[in-house]
Amino acid sequence: MPWKPPAPIDIYQLLPKTNCGKCGEPNCMAFAVKLVNLEAKVEQCPPLVEEETYRENLKKLRELLLPPVKEVVLRSPKKIVKVGGEYVLYRHELRYMNPTAIAIDIDDSMDRDAILKRIERIEKFEYEYVGQKLKLDLIAIRSTTNDPKQFAKTVQIVSENSSLPLILCSLNPTVIEAGLNVLTQNYKPLIYAATKDNWRELAELAKRFETALAIASPGDLDTLVSLVKTISEGYGIEDLVLDPGTFVGPNGLAYTLKAFTWLRYKATYDLWKYTGYPLLGTPISAWTLVEGDVTDKMWWEAVLATMLTTRYADILIMHSLEGWVLLPQVMWRFGLYTDPRKPVAVPPGVREIGKPNEMSPVLVTTNYALTYSIVMSDLEKSKINAWLIVIDTEGLAVDVSVAAKKFTGDKVLEVLKSSKLDEKVKHRILIIPGKAARVSGDIEDVTGWKVVVGPMDSNEISKFLDKIWASEKLKELTQT
Ligand code: SF4
Repeated sequence: MPWKPPAPIDIYQLLPKTNCGKCGEPNCMAFAVKLVNLEAKVEQCPPLVEEETYRENLKKLRELLLPPVKEVVLRSPKKIVKVGGEYVLYRHELRYMNPTAIAIDIDDSMDRDAILKRIERIEKFEYEYVGQKLKLDLIAIRSTTNDPKQFAKTVQIVSENSSLPLILCSLNPTVIEAGLNVLTQNYKPLIYAATKDNWRELAELAKRFETALAIASPGDLDTLVSLVKTISEGYGIEDLVLDPGTFVGPNGLAYTLKAFTWLRYKATYDLWKYTGYPLLGTPISAWTLVEGDVTDKMWWEAVLATMLTTRYADILIMHSLEGWVLLPQVMWRFGLYTDPRKPVAVPPGVREIGKPNEMSPVLVTTNYALTYSIVMSDLEKSKINAWLIVIDTEGLAVDVSVAAKKFTGDKVLEVLKSSKLDEKVKHRILIIPGKAARVSGDIEDVTGWKVVVGPMDSNEISKFLDKIWASEKLKELTQT
């Protein structure tokens, strides 16, 4: 039987039931519904966390809402990356929780300059897509020299020059220990990897340094599960990540897909605790397993990464930094991990287009990600200087939000006030989308600003502004 959310009434019974509103909800039942939908965390109820009388209920609530796949947290002094924490096999059953973390490798045979250049490329990789910044998440430091001193030196350089959490990769416990010794306590890296040959030593290191531990058993799921059982029960280590192996070729691909799917199926359908951990895939294997030139290896790495993101890797270790390899991965990951129950939204607020000043036009749009990105792209292409007010329509497009009464004067006023835009511009004219014409009166009444109805399509904005924002017309408008 797959994981099923508890009934809201069962959750409600464990809440304080005082309807105090401190969680931001009107009452405890509304908060219970949010908890069941995984839209809130129990920690958002202050009395539950702070008052001794609710201690037992808090524990029970946390148990009831525990995901069948454990959430593992990796940390650097500046960033936290969460992996796993999944509840379902198929996205439409609920939603996926923590996006697949992409790690790029650095190896300890590289000199300092090469390491610094690679870190810079990893950290600077960024693609803006429907208002979100898509980035890489982790650095995997591999020991290819098998020299503890060389590994420690590389870990030191990376930790001093990168903000990202780390994966330390070696099968040699002495090498891993040397790397762990140079990291401060603010780091919680992942050690990769315990195998049937070194599991004792690596489990002891993971316990001593309080790190997460990857268990690798390529091509042998029985051994993988047996190691999980031994390490979790014998050492009490729960921050585990499982690597069943990543292979290429027709048989290799089939095995890889089956192994990842079987592990996630057993975790989310059979709730089998020994498989309930995040999964790690190594598309980087293409660089050793694929015969051919560099492009062939990169192509296979991209194929493996896409396949594993879909089925069901929580961490990927990759080598290529080429845009054509990584861009499809971050975009596919973005699509897969958005909540299918909600439209994709961007944060409300004011955006500066070009270099706006006190007399620049002020435009209004919604926070539906697709509308936002089209409007932004049209405005940026037209090279105008303007202010863009993005209002919170709960991710609805203009026409839908008007019909649903989410595109309102109150929403515009909210952003005007929070951004203090009225102090930055001298005129009092708002340009709203043509599809929002019927709420122009409401916006004028609530904000006190004159509303001009703009074009139906954002690619007409530039022409529209040329006409309307000419000085004579502007004077006319400001005086009426
Ligand atoms: S903060 Fe807790 S007690 Fe108060 S309304 Fe919300 S759920 Fe109920």
